[in-house]
Amino acid sequence: MYIRVVSVFIRGKYSMRLFEFYSPRTFDEATALLSQYGADAKIIAGGTDLLIELRKPGAKTPKAIIDISKISELTGIREEGDLVVLNALTTHSDILRSQTLQKHASLLCSAASTIGSPQIRNRGTVGGNIMNAATCADMVPPLIALDAQVTLKSRGGTRTSSLSEFFVKPYVTSARPDEILIDIRFPKPPAAASSSFVKLGRRNAVSISRLSVAAILHVEKNALVKEARIVPGSAFPTWQRVMEAESILVGKKPSRELFAEAGKKVAEVMISITGRRWSTEYKEPVIAVLVRRALEACWDN
Ligand SMILES: Cc1cc2nc3c(=O)[nH]c(=O)nc-3n(C[C@H](O)[C@H](O)[C@H](O)COP(=O)(O)OP(=O)(O)OC[C@H]3O[C@@H](n4cnc5c(N)ncnc54)[C@H](O)[C@@H]3O)c2cc1C
Repeated sequence: MYIRVVSVFIRGKYSMRLFEFYSPRTFDEATALLSQYGADAKIIAGGTDLLIELRKPGAKTPKAIIDISKISELTGIREEGDLVVLNALTTHSDILRSQTLQKHASLLCSAASTIGSPQIRNRGTVGGNIMNAATCADMVPPLIALDAQVTLKSRGGTRTSSLSEFFVKPYVTSARPDEILIDIRFPKPPAAASSSFVKLGRRNAVSISRLSVAAILHVEKNALVKEARIVPGSAFPTWQRVMEAESILVGKKPSRELFAEAGKKVAEVMISITGRRWSTEYKEPVIAVLVRRALEACWDN
């Protein structure tokens, strides 16, 4: 049975807002509540994004807040054959500590290590990071580089979506209000592939990304690049691999000059999509350098 409490949310100095608070213990209870309330409900996982959102002036208070943090089926990281599966409540600290991820997708551990502070990493979940869909979400570029899929569950059933096609625009995904993100799964990269995540913030800690890059580089025994994946963060309205830059690398011998060329191509593609803005003077050289550094880090690994 889920717990149902009528609670009070205090926002600002004078206003107090009422909402129903539910703490379901199973998927069935959670999806039943979501189907009952629809767009009038809001899911809370770690609450590190949602609570800030609800406290903004003029924010709409949901009729119900559904706390999914007690649903044990939503926790854990596991291997399923050739896949790695992260359940939605996996925290950034869980990711950092995971031997499975260190082995198969160390760029996720690198990205998790840059998120907020230890307190934020202990509460914030990978599911919340994806569903909030901020362009600076640090877990998304590595997961897109890994070709991840998301699994969503509602009372009507379960569906999957490629993560790269899941985002509509900043802060908007294609999830319906009655759906819960239950897991994220990706194929294990080849053992010979290496990966990296680099991020530039305004300071070294508790800092969101101004720009970031997730990269995976697979160099064959003949020392030529077999496959490369490059996904910048905070560079586009939604995330994408920059295949024009990846193709510069394939079939070539890794070198600093080659990585720099790929970086310049990413900058060029970024500008072709976003146009020139006040920040371009800064972002153009910086994204090129971050791409080079991310590829160098892969190569050094
Ligand atoms: C001080 C501070 C520093 C931060 N630094 C960073 C940073 O460096 N990098 C970064 O990427 N982020 C950062 N964040 C943002 C935040 O911590 C992360 O995005 C975190 O992963 C959100 O997870 P959560 O579980 O707290 O989400 P919540 O706040 O619980 O939820 C976020 C949104 O996702 C929805 N949601 C959550 N889980 C599900 C689910 N399973 N199914 C459907 N919908 C769901 C909620 O309804 C809500 O809309 C920071 C936040 C703070 C407060």
